Amino acid sequence: MGHPFLRKKASGSKETAQKPRASVKNREFAVITYCFFGLFLSMMGYFVYFQTEKSEDFINNPYNARQETFSRSVLRGKIYSSDGKVLAETKTGEDGTETRVYPYGNLFSHAVGYSSEQYGRAGVESWANFNLLRSSSFFLEKTIDKVTDEKSIGDDVVTTLDVSLQSAAYQALGSYQGAIVAMHPKTGQILAMASKPDFDPNTVTQDWESIVEDAGGKSPLLNRASQGLYPPGSTFKIVTALQYLREHPNEFEDYSYVCNGSIQKDGSRLSCYGGNVHGNVDLLTSFLKSCNTSFANIGLSLDVGKFRKTAKELLFNQSLPVEKLDASKSSFALGTGSSESEVMETAIGQGKTLVTPLHMLMIVSAIANRGELMRPFIIDYTKRHDGDVVKWYPMESYGQIMTEEEAEILQSYMKETALRGTASKLSGMSYQAYGKTGSAEFGTNKGDSHAWFVGYAEREDKDSIAVAVILEGAGAGSAYAVPAAKGVFDVYFNQ
Ligand SMILES: [Zn+2]
Repeated sequence: MGHPFLRKKASGSKETAQKPRASVKNREFAVITYCFFGLFLSMMGYFVYFQTEKSEDFINNPYNARQETFSRSVLRGKIYSSDGKVLAETKTGEDGTETRVYPYGNLFSHAVGYSSEQYGRAGVESWANFNLLRSSSFFLEKTIDKVTDEKSIGDDVVTTLDVSLQSAAYQALGSYQGAIVAMHPKTGQILAMASKPDFDPNTVTQDWESIVEDAGGKSPLLNRASQGLYPPGSTFKIVTALQYLREHPNEFEDYSYVCNGSIQKDGSRLSCYGGNVHGNVDLLTSFLKSCNTSFANIGLSLDVGKFRKTAKELLFNQSLPVEKLDASKSSFALGTGSSESEVMETAIGQGKTLVTPLHMLMIVSAIANRGELMRPFIIDYTKRHDGDVVKWYPMESYGQIMTEEEAEILQSYMKETALRGTASKLSGMSYQAYGKTGSAEFGTNKGDSHAWFVGYAEREDKDSIAVAVILEGAGAGSAYAVPAAKGVFDVYFNQ
């Protein structure tokens, strides 16, 4: 027996007579065959090494011209929602032209993003570019593809995104600019990530000039959920309250203050929102009514150095522990040299503090999860085109960013806020909501404010869901952002 080619060559007219010659020839063939076999093995070895070790860096490097080479030999894989709906796929026309198709159009423009030969990639299209351009098809299948000059089929990417929740978030944004982002506090799965203004990824290449040149600083390509930096407004009172708890672990319930509508210090004056006067308030009442003057008073009592340390523990002034979401860094500028007016401003979420909606979502998710922060993620797993899973991206804990006791106290404050405070539009539902509103002033016009809500909701039969909402220039958080969050909660609990 032996190599099939040798047998074929040897099967001449008179096999027995030619035997001695054939065996010499066979030996030569054998040597050559072994040489080729050795070469083949080492090439296979490199191929496997390249596929498993080297190719991720190789393909993901945006400056690598090889990316285009890969796209010439691999048909870009599909992107799916968690419930199995196609969010992006490449269709090949009869003339061989390929078109990247996004069945949901603008709905997922920032989360799924776009892939354009001329203008690059964003969203999952960029974060999972490597996976989409890698084919984990069997070697034989790929070899046949090579021989027949067919493209191999790239791996598919299954995201954590849920179509109905994404639709709910998108609709809740309405005609406002802003963002709504939702996740499971227990796992870190991003369920929805909507940002407006948006664009149609199907026509991003044709529309590029008009999208980029959009006047008025609208920046439709910016993913406001993870990249938009905003003053946190009163949602930051969560952080200020936490710092007060840390400095007064045993007597925080004894705090009391009389709000007469404004506070004056260091030549600057600060008022409660909408001209409200809250009278006698303790810490809980200050929180649920979002009393600015009381929180400015609390701020003045705090140890600024320790306040800065708490902000750091809550991930301010550093990269967020999220892979592949292109998140901006939030900033907390307070230091030991800060003026009293700066301290007061910062304590109520104004001043120089800037946050992303994603960051606030992470803070409330940690509160919901008894102080433990799960790293947010959007890519769940990749699979071969025939359905076999290639790689799971498991959930990961970042660790405790506050103690369980601290989280429980903040939970109770956020619950009261949803029952009888500024978020009471969330009371009386089939689920229990927790949250904090904010009306973050911006610009020079007094009264211009972004509407915020950050919080979560739970019901026995489902995992809890956390949401961060910002509606640019909408006004009061209680009037605009709370109903938007309710829109997402309602869809989630009615599913
Ligand atoms: Zn007040």
